[in-house]
Amino acid sequence: MAAISPSVEGPILIVGGGIMGLASAWELSRLGKLVSLYERDSVGSGASGVPYAALWPSAATKRGIGHEKHRESLWKFADYVNRLSDAAEMPIEFGRVGRIELFTSPDRRRAAEKEAEVACREWPRFADERTQWIASADEIRQWEPSLEPTELGGLICNATAYVKTSELVAALKAVNLRHGVSVNEECLVNDLWIDEGRARGIISHRPIPGAAVLVTAGAWTSELCPELKEATPVIPVKGQTILLRPRQPLFRRLIKKRRIYLIPTASGEVLVGSTSEPEAGFDLEPTESARQQLFESACEFVPGLHDAEIVSQWVGHRPQTSTRSPHLTAVDSVPGLYVAAGHFKIGIAMAPVIGHQITELILSPKS
Ligand SMILES: Cc1cc2nc3c(=O)[nH]c(=O)nc-3n(C[C@H](O)[C@H](O)[C@H](O)COP(=O)(O)OP(=O)(O)OC[C@H]3O[C@@H](n4cnc5c(N)ncnc54)[C@H](O)[C@@H]3O)c2cc1C
Repeated sequence: MAAISPSVEGPILIVGGGIMGLASAWELSRLGKLVSLYERDSVGSGASGVPYAALWPSAATKRGIGHEKHRESLWKFADYVNRLSDAAEMPIEFGRVGRIELFTSPDRRRAAEKEAEVACREWPRFADERTQWIASADEIRQWEPSLEPTELGGLICNATAYVKTSELVAALKAVNLRHGVSVNEECLVNDLWIDEGRARGIISHRPIPGAAVLVTAGAWTSELCPELKEATPVIPVKGQTILLRPRQPLFRRLIKKRRIYLIPTASGEVLVGSTSEPEAGFDLEPTESARQQLFESACEFVPGLHDAEIVSQWVGHRPQTSTRSPHLTAVDSVPGLYVAAGHFKIGIAMAPVIGHQITELILSPKS
């Protein structure tokens, strides 16, 4: 495995100013490393610009290192936000609002019963004596009278939270600047500088030398150079969300049914997410059909939203790998080159652990 010595002189260069790049830069700079970050647009202009992110754990019955890291990150999220907000002296909206998932089939209900049993046994408790449980349609109507539950009831998950992503990104940028990270926006990286098989730096109009290069270019990671296309392929999956402003607050918990979810935010606005359009490639156009599909789904769950104003529509590209597991790796064929990309639908949720994973990878490599 490729490795650099922690004592190597020179900056660590990061390509991409999304959540992966910014969170990695914070951790590396906290350890005293020189870091320069290059973002072709402004930080958070890629997938990490999603207005609000849902932070929900995957089913407790799912095992494996990826699920465990994801859950570890979610349990750390509140502390991470507090630490970051203090360090940056900026507010970050975060709410552990809980989630109601409305069942649409008896099979899903049966699976959720098992999930709730495991979650209650293994997960930390949040706000209530139970972490997860199954509620009847009547119970759901009592808690959230504006909701249209299915007769099968739903899964209640107290561990679910959300974060306002723009505030998370702004705080990360601020704290990086305070730690001396050179944050270069509107600075396109044209290529990697690879010489004699080793990463020497990046090319951004001119060669910029570095001790190591970390590529966190999201869905664009494999576009950067042929070496990455081969070693760490990532493809874009276009997704759209809309933001609604109802006349008054209608519900308090995050609501999910099938693939659509509604996040109630502190300002009273509701994020409705999201479409999944792998066939669209890097297309950036918001579409009328997505706008309608999301709005109609939201009104199906919560009929009182029918006269809500659609405040905005957002488009982003989730970085997806063929295995659905992210690339978090040293590129064996190019010593000095590292990649953290492909976190697909859960990249924001991984912010609290990614910095540590990156420092382990670059500064304490296992041989
Ligand atoms: C519709 C939608 C909803 C989502 N909802 C959630 C959610 O609820 N919860 C959750 O956890 N996650 C969610 N995600 C996923 C999450 O947004 C991503 O996993 C995460 O933002 C990926 O972060 P990143 O830093 O890898 O990529 P990005 O945020 O895309 O950052 C990559 C950056 O690299 C820059 N870049 C690319 N090429 C170059 C270059 N050559 N030179 C310089 N800069 C370059 C780009 O401009 C970009 O800013 C959602 C995504 C979408 C699209």
